[in-house]
Amino acid sequence: MPQETDKKISHYILKATELKSLLDILFQREYHVIAPSIRDKSIEYDPIASFDEITRGWIDHQKPGSYRLANDEQDRFFGYVVGFSSWKKYLYPADKKLFEAEMDTKNFRVIEDGTAAPKYAFLGVRSCDLKAIEILDKILTEGPYVDLDYKRARDNALIIVVNCTRAGENCFCYSMGTGPRAYSGFDLALTEISDGEKHYFLVDTGSRSGEELISELGLSSASEDEIKTAEKAIEQTIANMSKILNTDGLKEKIWANLDSLYWDEIAERCLNCGNCTLVCPTCFCADIEDTTDIAGEKANRTRKWDVCYTLNFTYVHGGSIRTSCKSRYRQWLTHKLSTWIDQFGMFGCVGCGRCITWCPVGIDIAEEAKQLIESS
Ligand code: SF4
Ligand code: SF4
Repeated sequence: MPQETDKKISHYILKATELKSLLDILFQREYHVIAPSIRDKSIEYDPIASFDEITRGWIDHQKPGSYRLANDEQDRFFGYVVGFSSWKKYLYPADKKLFEAEMDTKNFRVIEDGTAAPKYAFLGVRSCDLKAIEILDKILTEGPYVDLDYKRARDNALIIVVNCTRAGENCFCYSMGTGPRAYSGFDLALTEISDGEKHYFLVDTGSRSGEELISELGLSSASEDEIKTAEKAIEQTIANMSKILNTDGLKEKIWANLDSLYWDEIAERCLNCGNCTLVCPTCFCADIEDTTDIAGEKANRTRKWDVCYTLNFTYVHGGSIRTSCKSRYRQWLTHKLSTWIDQFGMFGCVGCGRCITWCPVGIDIAEEAKQLIESS
């Protein structure tokens, strides 16, 4: 986790050809470097073992229920926005063995997991996803019960943000106050500038670890012009962000519409597949599964991501509480944009747009919330 620097953010210049040197230092320091790659025709975050594995020269086109990669004429490293999965899959894995136990004469003996906490370096974290990590930090490490596996992974993680200089069609981070630029919570933040003649990164430092990396790289300070160029690129991203969600009084407005007929209209389209929860970087619900071998001598306890769209999710003795498709979608949207605030003091949505892109029928949380409020 970034240790805050005493100094205000400093700005440096990293030439595109020097990105390899940054990666080499991370490898030398034995980080497990996780970076964007292409898998299943989408941007994915995968472990890489060398600079050559970093993907380059792609942009993405996203619409409700649609995702396509295309060549980037500017040949940037980070021309796309977000793919289907998020960094959550490393910090809070979908399927995590919590412990193993075995029969020891008459009792079960719990076998401690002796594996060391991972030491990740996340390269290419978008500002919305950084906010999603901050939300998970609050839920998983600041409440009465601390998720120790999450905390250990998080404490060791080095975060290199990439500020967005291109808005995806489904992004609405600016409305949610989570992007497109990160101001804190990172070790380094890069803004990629590629104008046909020059190709470089403006690098902001956000922690002591970030400053150490800069000093090892021997980077020179950015000029006023270079800082302004990066600021303009980010301002342009905001200007180009076409999806807007007015968050003024949003919590109360959604709460006031719990009985709206518009929920029935959404339920006509929703398949209750749960994709939206699986791609969401802030959804954290999990189930616990215990399994034993056939002899009853060994047992495993596993934590698995759960989905609030199933009947089982609200099963209590005698049956499920949310029996209709409508009630399950309403729960999801209401939690993200309204009741999450009561629980954690913040929205549960960072405006990354994933649930819109990866919904097979193109249900759009920002548009549905707007229509719901206008329907009243
Ligand atoms: S909103 Fe879309 S992704 Fe979510 S459960 Fe319904 S159909 Fe699936
Ligand atoms: S609710 Fe949708 S837009 Fe909001 S953070 Fe989750 S996936 Fe992203």
